[in-house]
Amino acid sequence: MKTIGLIGGMSWESSLEYYRLVNERVKERLGGFHSAECVLYSVDFADIERMQDRGDWDAAADRLGRAALALESAGADFALLCTNTMHKVFDAIQGKIRIPLLHIAEVTAREIRARGITRVGLLGTRFTMEQDFYKGKLSSEYGIEVLVPDSAERDAVHAIIYNELCLGQVKPTSREIYGAIIHRLVREGAQGIILGCTEIPLLVSQKDFEIPLFDTTALHARAGADLALSD
Ligand code: GLU
Repeated sequence: MKTIGLIGGMSWESSLEYYRLVNERVKERLGGFHSAECVLYSVDFADIERMQDRGDWDAAADRLGRAALALESAGADFALLCTNTMHKVFDAIQGKIRIPLLHIAEVTAREIRARGITRVGLLGTRFTMEQDFYKGKLSSEYGIEVLVPDSAERDAVHAIIYNELCLGQVKPTSREIYGAIIHRLVREGAQGIILGCTEIPLLVSQKDFEIPLFDTTALHARAGADLALSD
């Protein structure tokens, strides 16, 4: 089995899910006492959040690049960056290490295409919903049309991520707000919804919706475990 590197802490609430999910997947595949070989480097999210806020993406890439290098030195064969937002600096981090990084949007796009879906709604941080690093990849490389919430909705989605979910708060009122936004995106033509922030699956789950939800945390962790078990 290959060793999975996890660049986590963004936030640790979702890194916990990654740790659980990679282990559950390895147990599902191999049975018995089997569990994932993995190394976690968990950063202080307060530092990263400040860099995001002032738009200092070079500093964030540098910080996460050092975390990735530490994982490589610790024996990781490949790594997962356990956040959608910080994939903005994916290429810069990849450029600092020899082991491959598994891209969360690519894993998600492959699942969307496998389900025959070509138009999706995207929920995530403002960075993910508004900038091109994520949406652009889905449309230019996978031919997936991406709908995002309107400006007021994006504010609400973003605020709930940072003010609640990243702080471990899961509120029924926020679940209703997300539900209303998802339903509006469906009325606009979305055939599926990307939960494009690794904390959103703590709030929203498939059982409450008929439309397919693409849980990026679960898809990324599963792809990581499957890669670890591949030849
Ligand atoms: N975990 C989040 C994401 O998937 C947001 C936290 C961050 O900014 O990294 O985008």
